[in-house]
Amino acid sequence: PLVLGIETSCDETGIGIVRGHTLLANTIASSMDEHARFGGVVPEVASRAHLEAMTPTVEAALAEAGLTFADIDAIAVTAGPGLAGALLVGVAAAKSYALGLGVPLYGVNHLAAHVAVDQLEHGPLPKPCIAMLVSGGHSSLLLVPDVAGDVISLGSTVDDAAGEAFDKVARVLGLPFPGGPYIDRAARDGSGAAIAFPRGKIDDGTLDFSFSGLKTAVARWVEAREASGQSVHVPDVAASFQEAVVDVLTRKALQACRKYDVHDLLIGGGVAANSRLRALAQERCEAAGVRLRVPRPGLCTDNGAMVAALGSDLVAAGVTPSTLAIPADSSLPITTVHV
Ligand code: ATP
Ligand code: MG
Ligand code: FE
Repeated sequence: PLVLGIETSCDETGIGIVRGHTLLANTIASSMDEHARFGGVVPEVASRAHLEAMTPTVEAALAEAGLTFADIDAIAVTAGPGLAGALLVGVAAAKSYALGLGVPLYGVNHLAAHVAVDQLEHGPLPKPCIAMLVSGGHSSLLLVPDVAGDVISLGSTVDDAAGEAFDKVARVLGLPFPGGPYIDRAARDGSGAAIAFPRGKIDDGTLDFSFSGLKTAVARWVEAREASGQSVHVPDVAASFQEAVVDVLTRKALQACRKYDVHDLLIGGGVAANSRLRALAQERCEAAGVRLRVPRPGLCTDNGAMVAALGSDLVAAGVTPSTLAIPADSSLPITTVHV
């Protein structure tokens, strides 16, 4: 069956079309240019941009796939978590399309969709697998017996998300928002061993993360240098900060694999686009005999294909479709894969 997926949880209006795990279209309109000068996503601006972008982005996706509305067998939509007003635009559009076309509706969890998307590139997920979700709003380790059925949370950040730490440190370094990609790029000209920044919760026996102490340590280090009139070598700070984040992430992910005796690790979410995380995870997984799956960077950040991919899994699993009464739930828990 052909599934059209709608993503509007943050600033991207993403429309994806899949048949099974075959990607047919993935079209994105982003309002990030309108938010960047505020140093963060402005919810009201994002909602309005989704309204304006919805119809053209759906039409562009259909055109990209060479399909018409009549070909669509099911609609999947991000029901949460995310910005309430932004989610609402996607959920309302999805209900309208489902009702108008007479096809089933599937409200899905954005975070589980970040996991499911990898199947468009690397085929069905091994059952079970460990998934590490690292994004702008979340950092979690999950045990995934079946992404269409249930995910079990093993640990998560107790303060900032990994992506949030990247964005805040980027601001300290005078880099644009969102800072993750800029830190990634700046770090290539620096040394990850230049400055010993703290690794929060590294060996505390839990599968939780903490990044706010690291963020503060970077800010203090930069302030101290500037106060004493010394220059700040941005590439070294970026690389050393990034090394601290990815060192903790990869170590905890492999601890989870060992603890649950699972030999397949998937990394998803916007921070999974990070080049150093991808390289270090590959190196450490090889050493530990764990198979690693990471989607290509364009599928790690928010998109509609991930929603369509999870919708497709729900259809295949024979899950009961959502009713037209489903709400947009800005704080949908990660363990609720569909509503
Ligand atoms: P969530 O998925 O938790 O709702 P979100 O949807 O806003 O949050 P994503 O789009 O999944 O987040 O990811 C965006 C985050 O990923 C931002 O914090 C951004 O800085 C970060 N990011 C993107 N590319 C990179 C990169 N190359 N290196 C590090 N971080 C990156
Ligand atoms: Mg985004
Ligand atoms: Fe996301």
